[in-house]
Amino acid sequence: MGSCALAELARRGVRALGIDRFDPPHDRGSSHGGSRVIRLSYFEHPDYVPLLRRSYECFDRMSHDAGTTLRFETGLLVGGAAGNTAAAGMLRSAQLHDLEVTALDGAEVMRRFPQFAMPRDGDAVFERRGGFVRPEATIAAALEAAARDGARIERSSPVLSWGSDASGAWVETARGRFEASSLVLCGGAWMREILGADAPALQPTRETMVWIDDESDPAWQVGTHSNRMPVWLFDRGSEPAVYGIPRWPGMGSPTGLKVGLHGRGPAIELDSSGGSVDAVIDSEVVAQTLATVAHWLPSARARRVDAARHCLYTMSADSEFVLGLHPHLPRVAVACGFSGHGFKFAPVIGEVLADLAVSGNTALPIAFLAPTRQGAGWMGRG
Ligand SMILES: Cc1cc2nc3c(=O)[nH]c(=O)nc-3n(C[C@H](O)[C@H](O)[C@H](O)COP(=O)(O)OP(=O)(O)OC[C@H]3O[C@@H](n4cnc5c(N)ncnc54)[C@H](O)[C@@H]3O)c2cc1C
Repeated sequence: MGSCALAELARRGVRALGIDRFDPPHDRGSSHGGSRVIRLSYFEHPDYVPLLRRSYECFDRMSHDAGTTLRFETGLLVGGAAGNTAAAGMLRSAQLHDLEVTALDGAEVMRRFPQFAMPRDGDAVFERRGGFVRPEATIAAALEAAARDGARIERSSPVLSWGSDASGAWVETARGRFEASSLVLCGGAWMREILGADAPALQPTRETMVWIDDESDPAWQVGTHSNRMPVWLFDRGSEPAVYGIPRWPGMGSPTGLKVGLHGRGPAIELDSSGGSVDAVIDSEVVAQTLATVAHWLPSARARRVDAARHCLYTMSADSEFVLGLHPHLPRVAVACGFSGHGFKFAPVIGEVLADLAVSGNTALPIAFLAPTRQGAGWMGRG
Protein backbone atom coordinates (compact mmCIF):
# COMPACT_ATOMS: atom_id res chain seq x y z
CA MET A 1 0.00 0.00 0.00
CA GLY A 2 2.87 2.32 0.90
CA SER A 3 4.80 1.67 -2.33
CA CYS A 4 1.72 2.37 -4.44
CA ALA A 5 0.91 5.54 -2.46
CA LEU A 6 4.48 6.76 -2.92
CA ALA A 7 4.40 6.05 -6.67
CA GLU A 8 1.09 7.88 -7.04
CA LEU A 9 2.25 10.93 -5.07
CA ALA A 10 5.45 11.13 -7.12
CA ARG A 11 3.48 10.72 -10.37
CA ARG A 12 1.45 13.78 -9.39
CA GLY A 13 4.64 15.76 -8.83
CA VAL A 14 4.34 15.82 -5.04
CA ARG A 15 7.63 15.86 -3.11
CA ALA A 16 7.32 12.57 -1.24
CA LEU A 17 9.40 10.36 1.03
CA GLY A 18 8.70 6.64 1.62
CA ILE A 19 10.09 4.95 4.74
CA ASP A 20 10.18 1.20 5.44
CA ARG A 21 11.65 -0.75 8.32
CA PHE A 22 12.82 -3.43 5.85
CA ASP A 23 13.95 -3.42 2.21
CA PRO A 24 10.80 -3.81 0.08
CA PRO A 25 9.77 -5.95 -1.65
CA HIS A 26 10.60 -8.21 1.31
CA ASP A 27 9.22 -11.36 2.93
CA ARG A 28 8.70 -10.06 6.48
CA GLY A 29 5.13 -8.74 6.21
CA SER A 30 2.02 -9.42 4.16
CA SER A 31 3.07 -8.94 0.54
CA HIS A 32 5.20 -11.90 -0.56
CA GLY A 33 4.65 -15.39 -1.97
CA GLY A 34 4.56 -14.61 -5.69
CA SER A 35 0.82 -14.29 -6.30
CA ARG A 36 -2.46 -12.90 -4.95
CA VAL A 37 -6.00 -13.65 -6.15
CA ILE A 38 -7.79 -10.80 -7.91
CA ARG A 39 -11.49 -10.77 -8.86
CA LEU A 40 -14.25 -8.28 -9.57
CA SER A 41 -17.46 -9.90 -8.31
CA TYR A 42 -16.65 -9.42 -4.66
CA PHE A 43 -18.50 -11.68 -2.21
CA GLU A 44 -17.15 -9.88 0.87
CA HIS A 45 -19.07 -6.65 0.13
CA PRO A 46 -20.40 -5.33 -3.21
CA ASP A 47 -19.18 -1.79 -2.41
CA TYR A 48 -15.62 -2.94 -3.18
CA VAL A 49 -16.47 -3.43 -6.87
CA PRO A 50 -15.95 0.19 -8.06
CA LEU A 51 -12.56 0.18 -6.30
CA LEU A 52 -11.70 -3.11 -8.00
CA ARG A 53 -12.62 -1.79 -11.43
CA ARG A 54 -10.20 1.08 -10.85
CA SER A 55 -7.57 -1.31 -9.46
CA TYR A 56 -7.70 -3.41 -12.65
CA GLU A 57 -7.02 -0.25 -14.68
CA CYS A 58 -4.17 0.77 -12.38
CA PHE A 59 -2.52 -2.68 -12.50
CA ASP A 60 -2.64 -2.56 -16.29
CA ARG A 61 -1.15 0.93 -16.42
CA MET A 62 1.60 -0.12 -14.01
CA SER A 63 2.27 -3.25 -16.11
CA HIS A 64 2.56 -1.10 -19.21
CA ASP A 65 4.88 1.42 -17.56
CA ALA A 66 7.05 -1.31 -16.02
CA GLY A 67 7.16 -3.43 -19.20
CA THR A 68 6.03 -6.56 -17.34
CA THR A 69 2.73 -8.35 -16.66
CA LEU A 70 1.54 -7.69 -13.12
CA ARG A 71 -2.05 -8.94 -13.56
CA PHE A 72 -3.03 -12.27 -15.14
CA GLU A 73 -6.61 -12.94 -16.22
CA THR A 74 -6.83 -16.73 -15.83
CA GLY A 75 -10.45 -17.21 -14.81
CA LEU A 76 -11.56 -17.84 -11.24
CA LEU A 77 -13.78 -20.60 -9.86
CA VAL A 78 -15.50 -20.15 -6.48
CA GLY A 79 -17.61 -23.02 -5.16
CA GLY A 80 -18.88 -24.91 -2.16
CA ALA A 81 -21.94 -26.66 -0.79
CA ALA A 82 -25.42 -25.71 -2.05
CA GLY A 83 -26.21 -22.20 -0.86
CA ASN A 84 -22.61 -21.32 0.13
CA THR A 85 -22.17 -17.63 0.94
CA ALA A 86 -19.15 -17.01 -1.33
CA ALA A 87 -20.91 -18.06 -4.55
CA ALA A 88 -24.11 -16.28 -3.48
CA GLY A 89 -22.15 -13.11 -2.64
CA MET A 90 -20.41 -13.16 -6.01
CA LEU A 91 -23.74 -13.44 -7.81
CA ARG A 92 -25.14 -10.56 -5.76
CA SER A 93 -22.13 -8.35 -6.56
CA ALA A 94 -22.34 -9.33 -10.22
CA GLN A 95 -26.05 -8.45 -10.40
CA LEU A 96 -25.60 -5.12 -8.62
CA HIS A 97 -22.63 -4.09 -10.77
CA ASP A 98 -23.46 -5.78 -14.04
CA LEU A 99 -20.43 -8.09 -14.03
CA GLU A 100 -19.93 -11.08 -16.31
CA VAL A 101 -20.07 -14.32 -14.27
CA THR A 102 -21.42 -17.83 -14.89
CA ALA A 103 -23.36 -19.71 -12.20
CA LEU A 104 -22.67 -23.47 -12.23
CA ASP A 105 -23.79 -26.42 -10.15
CA GLY A 106 -21.26 -28.95 -8.87
CA ALA A 107 -22.00 -31.43 -11.68
CA GLU A 108 -21.29 -28.76 -14.29
CA VAL A 109 -18.07 -27.73 -12.53
CA MET A 110 -16.82 -31.34 -12.60
CA ARG A 111 -17.74 -31.64 -16.29
CA ARG A 112 -15.84 -28.46 -17.15
CA PHE A 113 -12.98 -28.93 -14.70
CA PRO A 114 -12.63 -32.66 -14.02
CA GLN A 115 -9.74 -32.04 -11.60
CA PHE A 116 -12.19 -30.87 -8.93
CA ALA A 117 -14.60 -32.84 -6.71
CA MET A 118 -17.68 -30.90 -5.60
CA PRO A 119 -21.09 -31.96 -4.27
CA ARG A 120 -23.15 -32.44 -7.47
CA ASP A 121 -25.80 -30.08 -6.10
CA GLY A 122 -23.20 -27.57 -4.86
CA ASP A 123 -23.12 -23.97 -6.05
CA ALA A 124 -20.24 -22.36 -7.92
CA VAL A 125 -19.52 -19.22 -9.92
CA PHE A 126 -16.95 -18.80 -12.67
CA GLU A 127 -15.60 -15.32 -13.37
CA ARG A 128 -13.62 -15.04 -16.59
CA ARG A 129 -11.91 -11.82 -15.50
CA GLY A 130 -10.63 -13.28 -12.21
CA GLY A 131 -7.01 -14.30 -11.87
CA PHE A 132 -3.97 -13.24 -9.92
CA VAL A 133 -1.52 -10.38 -9.46
CA ARG A 134 2.18 -10.49 -8.54
CA PRO A 135 2.85 -8.73 -5.21
CA GLU A 136 6.66 -8.47 -5.20
CA ALA A 137 6.77 -7.42 -8.87
CA THR A 138 4.05 -4.82 -8.22
CA ILE A 139 5.95 -3.34 -5.27
CA ALA A 140 9.19 -3.29 -7.24
CA ALA A 141 7.42 -1.59 -10.16
CA ALA A 142 5.83 0.99 -7.84
CA LEU A 143 9.11 1.81 -6.13
CA GLU A 144 10.97 2.07 -9.42
CA ALA A 145 8.30 4.43 -10.78
CA ALA A 146 8.36 6.45 -7.54
CA ALA A 147 12.14 6.86 -7.70
CA ARG A 148 11.98 7.74 -11.41
CA ASP A 149 9.44 10.47 -10.61
CA GLY A 150 11.64 11.93 -7.90
CA ALA A 151 10.46 10.29 -4.65
CA ARG A 152 13.01 9.58 -1.93
CA ILE A 153 13.00 6.09 -0.38
CA GLU A 154 14.45 5.33 3.06
CA ARG A 155 14.93 1.57 3.35
CA SER A 156 15.78 -0.50 6.44
CA SER A 157 14.80 2.46 8.58
CA PRO A 158 12.05 1.85 11.16
CA VAL A 159 9.87 4.80 12.10
CA LEU A 160 10.50 5.21 15.82
CA SER A 161 7.99 7.97 16.51
CA TRP A 162 5.68 10.31 14.63
CA GLY A 163 3.27 13.11 15.32
CA SER A 164 1.06 15.72 13.75
CA ASP A 165 -0.42 19.12 14.54
CA ALA A 166 -2.51 21.69 12.66
CA SER A 167 0.33 22.69 10.33
CA GLY A 168 1.87 19.34 9.42
CA ALA A 169 3.41 16.06 10.52
CA TRP A 170 6.81 14.62 11.45
CA VAL A 171 8.48 11.26 11.63
CA GLU A 172 11.62 10.17 13.46
CA THR A 173 13.93 7.34 12.45
CA ALA A 174 17.46 6.49 13.59
CA ARG A 175 18.62 8.56 10.57
CA GLY A 176 16.86 11.75 11.60
CA ARG A 177 13.64 13.72 11.74
CA PHE A 178 11.53 14.34 8.62
CA GLU A 179 8.80 16.95 8.36
CA ALA A 180 5.98 17.12 5.83
CA SER A 181 2.61 18.72 5.29
CA SER A 182 0.91 15.33 5.68
CA LEU A 183 1.66 11.74 6.64
CA VAL A 184 0.40 8.39 5.33
CA LEU A 185 0.58 5.46 7.76
CA CYS A 186 0.25 1.98 6.22
CA GLY A 187 2.40 -0.30 8.36
CA GLY A 188 0.57 -3.58 7.73
CA ALA A 189 0.77 -5.96 10.69
CA TRP A 190 2.69 -3.34 12.69
CA MET A 191 -0.08 -0.72 12.60
CA ARG A 192 -1.23 -1.43 16.15
CA GLU A 193 2.30 -0.72 17.36
CA ILE A 194 2.61 2.38 15.10
CA LEU A 195 -0.75 3.91 16.09
CA GLY A 196 -0.49 3.13 19.81
CA ALA A 197 -3.61 3.41 21.95
CA ASP A 198 -5.50 5.63 19.48
CA ALA A 199 -6.20 2.90 16.93
CA PRO A 200 -8.79 0.60 15.37
CA ALA A 201 -9.08 -2.97 16.63
CA LEU A 202 -6.40 -4.92 14.72
CA GLN A 203 -5.18 -8.50 15.13
CA PRO A 204 -2.18 -9.87 13.21
CA THR A 205 -2.33 -13.57 12.35
CA ARG A 206 0.37 -15.83 10.93
CA GLU A 207 -0.83 -17.68 7.83
CA THR A 208 0.86 -20.51 5.97
CA MET A 209 1.25 -20.69 2.19
CA VAL A 210 2.01 -24.15 0.79
CA TRP A 211 3.37 -25.06 -2.66
CA ILE A 212 2.46 -28.51 -3.98
CA ASP A 213 4.50 -30.22 -6.67
CA ASP A 214 2.41 -30.30 -9.86
CA GLU A 215 4.70 -32.75 -11.70
CA SER A 216 4.11 -30.68 -14.84
CA ASP A 217 0.56 -32.08 -14.99
CA PRO A 218 -1.33 -29.84 -17.48
CA ALA A 219 -4.51 -30.22 -15.38
CA TRP A 220 -2.68 -28.41 -12.59
CA GLN A 221 -1.39 -25.56 -14.70
CA VAL A 222 -3.12 -22.33 -15.36
CA GLY A 223 -5.87 -21.95 -17.94
CA THR A 224 -9.63 -22.07 -18.33
CA HIS A 225 -9.95 -25.11 -20.62
CA SER A 226 -11.04 -28.40 -19.15
CA ASN A 227 -7.49 -29.79 -19.10
CA ARG A 228 -6.20 -26.69 -17.29
CA MET A 229 -6.78 -25.07 -13.90
CA PRO A 230 -8.28 -21.68 -13.09
CA VAL A 231 -7.51 -19.85 -9.84
CA TRP A 232 -9.97 -21.32 -7.32
CA LEU A 233 -11.51 -20.94 -3.87
CA PHE A 234 -13.87 -23.29 -2.04
CA ASP A 235 -16.12 -21.94 0.71
CA ARG A 236 -16.26 -24.36 3.67
CA GLY A 237 -18.88 -22.60 5.74
CA SER A 238 -17.58 -21.95 9.25
CA GLU A 239 -14.20 -23.56 8.41
CA PRO A 240 -11.47 -21.49 6.66
CA ALA A 241 -11.96 -21.32 2.89
CA VAL A 242 -9.32 -23.14 0.83
CA TYR A 243 -7.79 -21.49 -2.25
CA GLY A 244 -5.29 -22.33 -4.97
CA ILE A 245 -3.26 -20.46 -7.57
CA PRO A 246 -1.79 -22.80 -10.21
CA ARG A 247 1.68 -22.66 -11.70
CA TRP A 248 2.00 -20.19 -14.55
CA PRO A 249 4.70 -19.86 -17.20
CA GLY A 250 7.53 -17.75 -15.80
CA MET A 251 6.61 -18.35 -12.15
CA GLY A 252 9.59 -17.87 -9.85
CA SER A 253 10.54 -20.01 -6.86
CA PRO A 254 8.79 -21.70 -5.07
CA THR A 255 6.96 -23.19 -8.01
CA GLY A 256 3.92 -25.49 -8.34
CA LEU A 257 0.35 -25.06 -7.12
CA LYS A 258 0.17 -22.52 -4.28
CA VAL A 259 -2.57 -23.29 -1.76
CA GLY A 260 -3.69 -21.99 1.61
CA LEU A 261 -6.45 -21.91 4.20
CA HIS A 262 -7.82 -18.37 4.38
CA GLY A 263 -7.56 -17.04 7.95
CA ARG A 264 -6.48 -20.34 9.54
CA GLY A 265 -4.30 -18.31 11.96
CA PRO A 266 -3.00 -18.32 14.69
CA ALA A 267 -3.29 -14.82 16.17
CA ILE A 268 0.16 -13.51 17.08
CA GLU A 269 1.94 -10.70 18.89
CA LEU A 270 4.64 -9.12 16.73
CA ASP A 271 8.03 -8.43 18.15
CA SER A 272 9.58 -5.23 16.86
CA SER A 273 11.97 -7.09 14.53
CA GLY A 274 9.09 -8.85 12.78
CA GLY A 275 10.62 -12.15 13.92
CA SER A 276 7.34 -13.98 14.18
CA VAL A 277 7.28 -14.54 10.40
CA ASP A 278 10.34 -16.71 11.05
CA ALA A 279 8.57 -19.15 13.38
CA VAL A 280 9.10 -22.80 12.48
CA ILE A 281 6.49 -24.00 9.97
CA ASP A 282 3.88 -26.12 11.76
CA SER A 283 3.81 -29.48 9.97
CA GLU A 284 0.27 -30.08 11.25
CA VAL A 285 -0.95 -26.93 9.47
CA VAL A 286 0.77 -28.09 6.27
CA ALA A 287 -0.80 -31.57 6.57
CA GLN A 288 -4.23 -30.04 7.27
CA THR A 289 -3.86 -27.75 4.24
CA LEU A 290 -2.90 -30.65 1.95
CA ALA A 291 -5.77 -32.83 3.25
CA THR A 292 -8.26 -30.00 2.73
CA VAL A 293 -6.98 -29.35 -0.80
CA ALA A 294 -7.24 -33.08 -1.58
CA HIS A 295 -10.91 -33.05 -0.56
CA TRP A 296 -11.66 -30.62 -3.44
CA LEU A 297 -8.79 -31.60 -5.75
CA PRO A 298 -8.41 -35.38 -5.24
CA SER A 299 -5.21 -35.69 -7.32
CA ALA A 300 -3.43 -33.63 -4.61
CA ARG A 301 -3.53 -36.65 -2.31
CA ALA A 302 -0.52 -38.26 -3.95
CA ARG A 303 1.51 -35.08 -4.37
CA ARG A 304 4.55 -33.78 -2.51
CA VAL A 305 4.71 -30.48 -0.63
CA ASP A 306 7.63 -28.55 -2.13
CA ALA A 307 7.67 -25.47 0.10
CA ALA A 308 5.79 -23.67 2.86
CA ARG A 309 6.18 -20.05 4.01
CA HIS A 310 4.59 -17.78 6.55
CA CYS A 311 2.88 -14.49 5.75
CA LEU A 312 0.93 -12.09 7.98
CA TYR A 313 -2.71 -11.06 7.87
CA THR A 314 -3.90 -8.02 9.84
CA MET A 315 -7.52 -8.62 10.73
CA SER A 316 -9.81 -5.68 11.43
CA ALA A 317 -12.77 -6.20 13.75
CA ASP A 318 -15.22 -6.68 10.86
CA SER A 319 -12.72 -7.95 8.22
CA GLU A 320 -13.18 -4.80 6.10
CA PHE A 321 -10.30 -2.40 5.43
CA VAL A 322 -9.72 0.64 7.66
CA LEU A 323 -9.06 3.47 5.22
CA GLY A 324 -9.36 7.24 5.57
CA LEU A 325 -8.13 10.17 7.59
CA HIS A 326 -7.11 9.50 11.17
CA PRO A 327 -10.22 10.39 13.21
CA HIS A 328 -8.30 12.83 15.43
CA LEU A 329 -5.42 13.96 13.19
CA PRO A 330 -6.61 15.43 9.87
CA ARG A 331 -3.10 15.54 8.37
CA VAL A 332 -2.62 11.79 8.83
CA ALA A 333 -4.14 9.17 6.51
CA VAL A 334 -4.33 5.55 7.64
CA ALA A 335 -4.65 2.32 5.64
CA CYS A 336 -4.69 -0.93 7.58
CA GLY A 337 -6.74 -3.98 8.59
CA PHE A 338 -6.57 -5.46 5.09
CA SER A 339 -7.77 -8.75 6.62
CA GLY A 340 -6.15 -11.09 4.11
CA HIS A 341 -7.79 -9.62 1.01
CA GLY A 342 -6.07 -6.29 0.37
CA PHE A 343 -3.38 -6.78 -2.25
CA LYS A 344 -5.71 -6.80 -5.25
CA PHE A 345 -6.56 -3.20 -4.26
CA ALA A 346 -3.01 -1.93 -3.71
CA PRO A 347 -2.82 0.51 -6.65
CA VAL A 348 -6.25 2.02 -6.01
CA ILE A 349 -5.46 2.31 -2.30
CA GLY A 350 -2.34 4.18 -3.45
CA GLU A 351 -4.59 6.62 -5.32
CA VAL A 352 -6.89 7.05 -2.30
CA LEU A 353 -3.93 7.71 -0.01
CA ALA A 354 -2.41 10.21 -2.43
CA ASP A 355 -5.77 12.03 -2.61
CA LEU A 356 -6.06 12.10 1.20
CA ALA A 357 -2.46 13.27 1.65
CA VAL A 358 -2.80 16.07 -0.89
CA SER A 359 -6.33 17.36 -0.33
CA GLY A 360 -7.76 15.57 2.71
CA ASN A 361 -10.52 13.91 0.68
CA THR A 362 -11.08 11.60 -2.28
CA ALA A 363 -13.69 11.07 -4.96
CA LEU A 364 -13.14 7.30 -4.77
CA PRO A 365 -15.99 5.55 -2.90
CA ILE A 366 -14.40 4.58 0.43
CA ALA A 367 -17.05 5.78 2.94
CA PHE A 368 -17.90 2.17 3.88
CA LEU A 369 -14.27 1.67 5.01
CA ALA A 370 -14.13 4.77 7.24
CA PRO A 371 -11.97 4.40 10.38
CA THR A 372 -14.87 5.94 12.34
CA ARG A 373 -17.41 3.27 11.32
CA GLN A 374 -18.62 1.22 14.26
CA GLY A 375 -17.24 -2.04 12.85
CA ALA A 376 -13.65 -0.73 12.89
CA GLY A 377 -13.77 -0.53 16.69
CA TRP A 378 -11.55 2.57 16.87
CA MET A 379 -10.49 3.03 20.51
CA GLY A 380 -8.71 5.93 22.15
CA ARG A 381 -9.48 9.54 22.86
CA GLY A 382 -13.06 9.92 21.69
C1 LIG B 1 -0.91 -15.84 2.85
C2 LIG B 1 -1.59 -14.61 2.34
C3 LIG B 1 -2.45 -14.70 1.26
C4 LIG B 1 -3.11 -13.57 0.79
N1 LIG B 1 -3.90 -13.70 -0.31
C5 LIG B 1 -4.46 -12.59 -0.85
C6 LIG B 1 -5.14 -12.67 -2.08
O1 LIG B 1 -5.24 -13.74 -2.67
N2 LIG B 1 -5.66 -11.53 -2.60
C7 LIG B 1 -5.52 -10.33 -1.98
O2 LIG B 1 -6.03 -9.33 -2.50
N3 LIG B 1 -4.87 -10.22 -0.81
C8 LIG B 1 -4.33 -11.31 -0.24
N4 LIG B 1 -3.63 -11.23 0.92
C9 LIG B 1 -3.62 -9.96 1.66
C10 LIG B 1 -2.68 -8.95 1.10
O3 LIG B 1 -1.47 -9.56 0.70
C11 LIG B 1 -2.46 -7.89 2.17
O4 LIG B 1 -3.73 -7.33 2.49
C12 LIG B 1 -1.55 -6.78 1.67
O5 LIG B 1 -0.35 -7.32 1.18
C13 LIG B 1 -1.28 -5.83 2.84
O6 LIG B 1 -0.38 -4.84 2.44
P1 LIG B 1 0.17 -3.79 3.47
O7 LIG B 1 0.86 -2.74 2.69
O8 LIG B 1 -0.91 -3.41 4.43
O9 LIG B 1 1.24 -4.62 4.37
P2 LIG B 1 2.79 -4.92 4.08
O10 LIG B 1 3.01 -5.25 2.66
O11 LIG B 1 3.23 -5.88 5.11
O12 LIG B 1 3.46 -3.51 4.27
C14 LIG B 1 3.61 -2.89 5.52
C15 LIG B 1 4.98 -2.26 5.51
O13 LIG B 1 5.12 -1.44 6.65
C16 LIG B 1 6.47 -1.53 7.04
N5 LIG B 1 6.58 -1.09 8.44
C17 LIG B 1 5.96 -1.61 9.52
N6 LIG B 1 6.29 -0.93 10.63
C18 LIG B 1 7.13 0.06 10.25
C19 LIG B 1 7.82 1.08 10.94
N7 LIG B 1 7.71 1.25 12.26
N8 LIG B 1 8.64 1.89 10.23
C20 LIG B 1 8.76 1.76 8.88
N9 LIG B 1 8.12 0.80 8.17
C21 LIG B 1 7.33 -0.04 8.85
C22 LIG B 1 6.80 -3.00 6.86
O14 LIG B 1 8.19 -3.22 6.78
C23 LIG B 1 6.08 -3.31 5.56
O15 LIG B 1 6.92 -3.18 4.44
C24 LIG B 1 -2.94 -12.33 1.42
C25 LIG B 1 -2.06 -12.22 2.51
C26 LIG B 1 -1.39 -13.34 2.96
C27 LIG B 1 -0.46 -13.22 4.14
